[in-house]
Amino acid sequence: MNQENKYDVVILGGGAGGLFCAFHAAKNGNKVLVLEKSNKVGKKILMSGGGRCNFTNRLVNPHNFLSKNKHFCKSALSRYTPQDFIDLVEFHNIKYEERKHGQLFCVDSAKDIVNMLIKECKNANVKIITDALPSNVIFNKNLYTLNAEINNKIDSYKLKICTNALVVATGALSVPTLGGSGYGYDLAKQFNLEVVDLHAGLVPFMFTDHLKPICKKLSGVSHPVSITCNGMTFTEDMLFTHRGLSGPAILQISNYWSLGDTISINLFPAIDIESHILISKKSTPKQRFKTILTSDISKAIADELEILFWPDMANIPIGEWSNSQIKSVCINLKAWKVKPSSTEGYRTAEVTKCGINTKHISSKTMEVHGQKGLYFIGEVLDVTGHLGGYNFQWAWASAYAAACDL
Ligand SMILES: Cc1cc2nc3c(=O)[nH]c(=O)nc-3n(C[C@H](O)[C@H](O)[C@H](O)COP(=O)(O)OP(=O)(O)OC[C@H]3O[C@@H](n4cnc5c(N)ncnc54)[C@H](O)[C@@H]3O)c2cc1C
Repeated sequence: MNQENKYDVVILGGGAGGLFCAFHAAKNGNKVLVLEKSNKVGKKILMSGGGRCNFTNRLVNPHNFLSKNKHFCKSALSRYTPQDFIDLVEFHNIKYEERKHGQLFCVDSAKDIVNMLIKECKNANVKIITDALPSNVIFNKNLYTLNAEINNKIDSYKLKICTNALVVATGALSVPTLGGSGYGYDLAKQFNLEVVDLHAGLVPFMFTDHLKPICKKLSGVSHPVSITCNGMTFTEDMLFTHRGLSGPAILQISNYWSLGDTISINLFPAIDIESHILISKKSTPKQRFKTILTSDISKAIADELEILFWPDMANIPIGEWSNSQIKSVCINLKAWKVKPSSTEGYRTAEVTKCGINTKHISSKTMEVHGQKGLYFIGEVLDVTGHLGGYNFQWAWASAYAAACDL
């Protein structure tokens, strides 16, 4: 083996976790190589947060993560905190802002975060090879050997690489055009690790029933709601799209939804809609039900709700409604039951729910139990964050945990 191709640490995947792990491992004195299959590193970061990268969340808490083992994420998250990442961002003079729910975004561009990671890698002498496809990972005599096929516009060649430690940071299945791949799961299976049920997460819903034309008609309209499914509730905006429902409330609840589940939508989370209508019945008895609603919801949505829930009463002034009629409509407005037929899938999902079963992984170091030198970090593991910067914080924290062990 050519000495040049011998490394202390090889990292598969030059995304959030891979780059972050690379420069921390290199700062510990390791010779580090990153192999990235795309033509550039950090593609998902560039597209994240609407191009401004929601890079962490001030309010990170283990409750914001889903996993078969809800305790797994605790150690890494407590060792590398949001403040640690904020310190790094400030050190690089990156302008950022706090939005609601503690979410931190770049003011200028997500490029700032990618450039920061590349700069740190450069300063630490990390070697990064893009357009590189790894294969044939073999573990023998405490060393990992693998091949890498490099195909770019200028060059096409093969490398045989050897390393003491292999860090798998290839992410997950979501958004294949941004590097989403199942390579990490394949490697996990090669080493006899269980991969827990994979699903698209943080993803819009689609419908095939009566809701489909309604969503199409209301496409582009957004409204604050409270959404509940399987005991979890989120209060956020919901967006109608030409395919179905999206927006932060929907993305959040999609992590808790399974095929066949019904979700319940409270269209008036900030007010007691029934009392509001009863008061209007007394004060403005000539008003129509729909007109009363339009002080709190867009007319376009109110038009559709009328067709759905009180078509026969549409022209009857509220003063002529019985209280029980008002109650029964309000029950629907507070708990509108909708049944998605599917999600938009990995094409648009921000994350992949579930992943490699964490029972195989040390929560302190991310190393595979009983498999010295093999590490899995980031989204490939069965740790899925809520929307709001949590998934990047998991990538940074799990990468840091691994790097500290390298
Ligand atoms: C559109 C979009 C927006 C998002 N916005 C946010 C946000 O604002 N805040 C937030 O917290 N999270 C966000 N996320 C989620 C977040 O991007 C991921 O959770 C995070 O990037 C996971 O980090 P990772 O290092 O595990 O994987 P990734 O960042 O996905 O990196 C994996 C890397 O591995 C490479 N790779 C894959 N297969 C191979 C292979 N066989 N060989 C070599 N390399 C390979 C990929 O090309 C990629 O570069 C968003 C996701 C998407 C899709």
